[in-house]
Amino acid sequence: MSTPSIKDNLDRVRDSIEKAASAAGRPAEDVVLMAVSKTKPVELIREAYEAGQRLFGENRVAEAAEKFALLPDDTDLHLIGHLQSNKIKTAVPAFDCVESVDSPELARKLAAQCEKKDKVMRILLQLKTAEEGGKTGFSSESEIMETAGWIREQKSLKVEGLMTIAPFTDDESAVRNAFARCRNLQEKLMSLYRDQDYSCLSMGMSSDYEWAIQEGATLIRVGTAIFGGRF
Ligand SMILES: *Cc1c(COP(=O)(O)O)cnc(C)c1O
Repeated sequence: MSTPSIKDNLDRVRDSIEKAASAAGRPAEDVVLMAVSKTKPVELIREAYEAGQRLFGENRVAEAAEKFALLPDDTDLHLIGHLQSNKIKTAVPAFDCVESVDSPELARKLAAQCEKKDKVMRILLQLKTAEEGGKTGFSSESEIMETAGWIREQKSLKVEGLMTIAPFTDDESAVRNAFARCRNLQEKLMSLYRDQDYSCLSMGMSSDYEWAIQEGATLIRVGTAIFGGRF
């Protein structure tokens, strides 16, 4: 048997999104698929592009800027990894959306750089729902609420919703609880800040996106199931 192509993999993932959405009583169009292309070469990303994929996620600023400079302009490139202060300058022109806004300080520095460059950056606020080391994100809901209030006044930031990474476990209820927490926070933000857009819920990866869709995800971030494992 020959190895499946990127296009085969995309078709398979899109299929299973449809099934998961339908099982959850949701229209499949409500769930957008991001192809997470971190560590993968431009040739594979181009294959995905040629199969119709436009939304991509990367977690390293320099790597993403280099690779996506070689791809057509009509991609939608999201940063999904922690953004260090010294990388903000490179990140601002390279990304269309920063999903990993994980502290008030980062929000402030990002806003300042975007203002300087006359760019309005789309952002998601990342909620920390897993305690494992290395997982970044706001750990307190009240801090997110406060930052969300501050973001309302920022012309250079356009908030679109929340992002989370669930704990790495096959314990379904633990994973679904993490997603449900994120959705509950979204509901609070929506009712508190009615003039803002919190409609995007970015949650779910290769191993847990079906559960995420059941818990209301509108954007799922899939790497391995599309591009294969990372070594
Ligand atoms: C790597 C990564 C993904 C994709 O993970 P897979 O298990 O390969 O699907 C999704 N979200 C974030 C934040 C990631 O860093």
